[in-house]
Amino acid sequence: MKNGSHSREVLIVGAGIIGIACAHYLAKTGRSVTVIDQRKLAGGCSHGNCGYICPSHVLPLTEPSAIKTALKSLFNPKAPFRVKPQLDPTLWQWMWQFAKRCNHRQMIANGKHLQAILNSSMQEYQKIIAEEKLECEWKEEGLLYVFRTAKGLKAYAETDRLLSETFGIKSRPLAGDELSSFDAAFTSGLAGGFHYPGDASLRPDLLNQGWIERLKARGVRFIENCKLVRVTKSKKRISNIHTTRGEWEADEIVFCLGAWSPRLCEELGCKIPIQPGKGYSITMSSVKDSPKYPMLFPEEKVGISPFREGFRIGSMMEFAGYDRIIPPRRIAQLKQSARPYLHTQWSEEGGEPWYGWRPMTWDSLPIIGRVPSLENAFLATGHNMLGMSLATATGKLIAELIEGDSPHIDLEPYSLRRFQSGK
Ligand SMILES: Cc1cc2nc3c(=O)[nH]c(=O)nc-3n(C[C@H](O)[C@H](O)[C@H](O)COP(=O)(O)OP(=O)(O)OC[C@H]3O[C@@H](n4cnc5c(N)ncnc54)[C@H](O)[C@@H]3O)c2cc1C
Repeated sequence: MKNGSHSREVLIVGAGIIGIACAHYLAKTGRSVTVIDQRKLAGGCSHGNCGYICPSHVLPLTEPSAIKTALKSLFNPKAPFRVKPQLDPTLWQWMWQFAKRCNHRQMIANGKHLQAILNSSMQEYQKIIAEEKLECEWKEEGLLYVFRTAKGLKAYAETDRLLSETFGIKSRPLAGDELSSFDAAFTSGLAGGFHYPGDASLRPDLLNQGWIERLKARGVRFIENCKLVRVTKSKKRISNIHTTRGEWEADEIVFCLGAWSPRLCEELGCKIPIQPGKGYSITMSSVKDSPKYPMLFPEEKVGISPFREGFRIGSMMEFAGYDRIIPPRRIAQLKQSARPYLHTQWSEEGGEPWYGWRPMTWDSLPIIGRVPSLENAFLATGHNMLGMSLATATGKLIAELIEGDSPHIDLEPYSLRRFQSGK
């Protein structure tokens, strides 16, 4: 197949939330947009995640205590953050670069870079939800962080103070007996929590489907089961894209391949240091006393996302390569971790288990920008644990870049060049 008849055609490879958001903003500029995906649309990491749109999550994973946590996990198969010992030099190089950044100074610096794009993304979501009226269970109720033990609550109070003083993110502290006013599902005896009113939540699969349908109605073409295999380059440009469904030409190509991005390094002639950070969720049907409020239990590193129908428990971060298995013990662990907080009477059987590979960079920042050696190739990837939250600003930035407009946020911190220099 060859479709070179259209001028100003943009091809987006990867139909996760990042590819969809790029399609939205590029279609608005009047470009002719096609999105392809190797599998079904939005069937990757953007499907079964927790759906928090959370400007409160400014702190990168590279916090000072992260190395200790990672080392401990080597010997604990039940740890929510786990590195599976394996002989993969790219993983160990990634870990080394990650470890180098686990200090207060870099945590704050990268937190500021994350905050710029998180805040912009939230504003864009508010506009899009209002304008497009997308049915995705959008709720601007905030996010609750809940603690079981006084020790956990006290330790987190330091982080909350940092968020307030350094990033201006304000929360409302809650005593244990105030929690039930948020959600009747809480057990008694919890230590307390913090409410971040600036966060929102949505149901990811509904957002993806609704947004794709809206874009299709505007002429954006979505093609599934169409895998990018290789590219042909000519004079610093990609001239052809070779897929399992034929050959394509486009004026610009945007690669939104999430955790699969490193497989493209050789084709694009650049380093894309991303590791898959595997997480799991289980989506349960509504039962008696289902939780109603989006909440996190940081002591267990578990999140609960209530939906109109049912609710989701999500967590875990495993560095285990491109592993597709969903071990029943990990799903059982998700449910067990939430048990002490909720008196919801769910069954130990059933539910819809899911895994996703988060595209993890070693500095917790996304990669948004032009491929250094190619004039018409762009990357929008590496959104780590925040791809839903960062999608809209990412799409806007990519459209600005392709249109030659000044980016609304400084793009330098997200540039691929930061890896090429080896810093
Ligand atoms: C348990 C869990 C909970 C999470 N909760 C949240 C949350 O609450 N809030 C939040 O902001 N983020 C959350 N995340 C993170 C978020 O899900 C990801 O950051 C985001 O989905 C990444 O989106 P993406 O479009 O880059 O990747 P993906 O959705 O994985 O999309 C990449 C697409 O590229 C396609 N592709 C790959 N290779 C090719 C090829 N060769 N040819 C064609 N297509 C190809 C894939 O099939 C896939 O569809 C969570 C993640 C997990 C695992």
